[in-house]
Order: sequence, then C-alpha cells, then structure tokens
Amino acid sequence: MNVNDAIAGYLKFTGNKEINISTALVDMDGVLYDSMKNHTRAWVKLMKKNGIKCTRDEFYLYEGMTGEAIIQMKFKEGAGKNITHDEATALYKVKGRYFQELGEAEIMPGTLDVLKGLKAAGVRCVLVTGSGQQSLLDKIDADYEGIFDARVTSKDVRHGKPNPEPYLKGIAIAEARANQCIVIENAPLGVQAGHAAGCFTIGVTTGPITEKELYRAGADLVFPNMEAFAKALPELLAALKR
Ligand code: MG
Repeated sequence: MNVNDAIAGYLKFTGNKEINISTALVDMDGVLYDSMKNHTRAWVKLMKKNGIKCTRDEFYLYEGMTGEAIIQMKFKEGAGKNITHDEATALYKVKGRYFQELGEAEIMPGTLDVLKGLKAAGVRCVLVTGSGQQSLLDKIDADYEGIFDARVTSKDVRHGKPNPEPYLKGIAIAEARANQCIVIENAPLGVQAGHAAGCFTIGVTTGPITEKELYRAGADLVFPNMEAFAKALPELLAALKR
C-alpha cells in the first residue's frame, strides 16, 4: 500500500475531509521495546504453573488486553474458574516477576529515529499502552529521554485494547481530534483500537504477526519494521500534514 492510497482509504473510512497530524499515539511493547518475546514466555510459565493449557503464539494475539482480562479469560476457558479482580492482580504480579527474570527487554531498533523525526517535525508524542509492567514503564524516560509529553497506561484505562478507550484517552490528553493523530502499533488488537478511535493507524510487524493480519485489523499502512518506517518518515510526514 502506498502512502497516498492509505490516506485516501483513511479519509473514506472516517468521512474526514483532511488529515493534519499534530500528535503520535505510541504503543510500548513491540514498538518501544522488543519485549513481546519475553512477555509471551512469562505468560506461558504462569499458565503452566497453574495447570492452564496454552501455546506461546496465542499471547501475541492477546497483546493489548489488560493483564487482568487475559488472566480471567484463560482461567475461565482452561479451568472453568472465575478469577476475581484481587486474584487477577496477584497473578499478574507473578507474571510481571517472571518477565523481569528473563532480563532487560531490548530497545526496538529504529524506533528512536522515528520518534525523534516526529518531534523534529513538531509532532507531539503520547505513550498509549495497556501494560502495567512497571519495570518497562520506569525505563522509558531514560531510554526515550524528552520524547513523551504524556502517557496512558493500564492505571488509566478500564477496558484496554481492542476497546478504543486507551487511544480516545490519548487523543483527549493531547487535546487533539482523531484526524490529527497517528497511532503506531504492532498488535492486531492495538491496531483495532486505534482504527476504532478514528486515528490514522500505522502497523509495524515487529513480531510473528503478519502484515496481512494487521491490515485485516484495520491498519491504514503497515511497515515491516521500525527502520523501514524511519526511512519512509519524511515522505509520510509530508503527506500527513497537508
Ligand atoms: Mg504492542
């Protein structure tokens, strides 16, 4: 998909006459950090310890849901158990510990170039994640110094992705309109949320999820990785600010 076709498709879907980007709403896992490998490993370990059958790949598809929602769904499905909020909170803490034990998540190559390019063009950056993984949230200010003006995390949302709530909150915090915002996402549920919020949604296939699946979830444009996104940024910015 080329940039102009992507914009034409976006305008048609949203009914907007124009697009003029002032704000980027940026996901964390799989975008800022190459962290999904370790998240999926930690989820499998938690489920196995609790006797819940699962595969590692399925957790790539749940990315964006709140930890509580994933736990409640899997325990219901796998063991017929209703998990309370407090039980889910305790289990999510254990999952967070397993994640941390796997070592530091690496910074995603190319992402800092994209975000610096956006900032240089006067585009504000807001973090929008359903994650409550404090060990990662604490690293952002050092790893992405001076990039983010505000953040929306699991503490701020009730529903998590694919509900558009996290991105609608990001739009509100930025005091912008949806057609002034791009969403940068790697996960199908996150793409769905950005699309449903009415933003121009850019998917990046930084994990095993294919380009086709991100388009199917509603992405306006998909890049194979953040480096390719960085390379295309000048052309994209020219097209998105007009
Ligand atoms: Mg993500």
